[in-house]
Amino acid sequence: MAEKILEIRNLTTGFLTDGGMVKATDRVSLDIEKGKTLCVVGESGSGKSVTALSVMRLIEYAGGMITEGEARFDKQDLVQKSQLDMLNIRGSRIAMIFQDPMSALNPVFTVGEQIAESLRTHKRLSKKEAWRQSVDMLRRVRIPDPEIRARQYPHEMSGGMCQRVVIAMALACNPELLIADEPTSALDVTVQAQILELLLQLKQEFRMSMLLITHDMGVAAEVADRITVMYAGAVVEEGTAADIFERPRHPYTIGLLQSIPGLEGERGGELYTIRGAIPPLSNIPPGCRFHPRCLYAMDLCRTNEPPLRRSLSGHMAACWLDDTGAEDPRPGNPNNRETKVTIGNRPEVTFP
Ligand code: SF4
Repeated sequence: MAEKILEIRNLTTGFLTDGGMVKATDRVSLDIEKGKTLCVVGESGSGKSVTALSVMRLIEYAGGMITEGEARFDKQDLVQKSQLDMLNIRGSRIAMIFQDPMSALNPVFTVGEQIAESLRTHKRLSKKEAWRQSVDMLRRVRIPDPEIRARQYPHEMSGGMCQRVVIAMALACNPELLIADEPTSALDVTVQAQILELLLQLKQEFRMSMLLITHDMGVAAEVADRITVMYAGAVVEEGTAADIFERPRHPYTIGLLQSIPGLEGERGGELYTIRGAIPPLSNIPPGCRFHPRCLYAMDLCRTNEPPLRRSLSGHMAACWLDDTGAEDPRPGNPNNRETKVTIGNRPEVTFP
């Protein structure tokens, strides 16, 4: 069995409000194997970022608290660590990059100084050596003329260039795990592809594992080894990229795949949307939390929460349709009419 760098078990994080504790994640469990990329996908409000911030123990600075569960990194439970211990882990062993590079950079320091600062803090390097390594990091994230760029301020760079600087800062101390929270969402489409490719190359180069959070199934198709689908704070499906793209089992995952832009021509010109909206975390529906939006909801779904069940291949889903056998209306059932579409470089996906 492959060695795990991160094992999350039943992680529940809440925010104390006037109306009581609101769960932003509910018993989330997921694993990342060493050297692999796990993508966590779902709409805004599904609990992806809260999961990442909980692992980093940054959620406490955002007003949240972990109420239950474990996050084992290299066999050590991060939930039990003090914030002092986490200071040594964050940045050096686990690094995180965020959606908006401009908000991650300090406008009053040059980019070289900001990378050097991280190196001096975690590696205790001399000023001169930290500067040399920060220029080298800019070179490794493919920034041209790194000696000149190191002396520039963030406002002198484009969004894509700033994201490269943020990646350089994150990787400067050679972390074992990189958490990337929507790293391309704030960038132009053409730059997005470059940054994704860069992340994949650097993952190999630095021998890292990666947890990539995205709402974009197209991004997941490009980079994921495994995919976890979250909805309204809970994991609803998990499997290999092939499981999710070729044999999706949860209706929410099927809806996300159908909503990928660029495929509308193959389905008659209309872009599919999942009806309704994700519920507020203070008002999660009883039973299956997806039932108000689900095309296949049954009476059972409105009252009983489906457990997350694992098939023999390791593909997991939380849906009562797994119990309906021959009457299963989901795509892939041989009784259903199917059309086939292609997503990115993935093989065919079947839709009803
Ligand atoms: S359990 Fe029911 S409501 Fe939930 S996804 Fe499955 S069919 Fe839809």
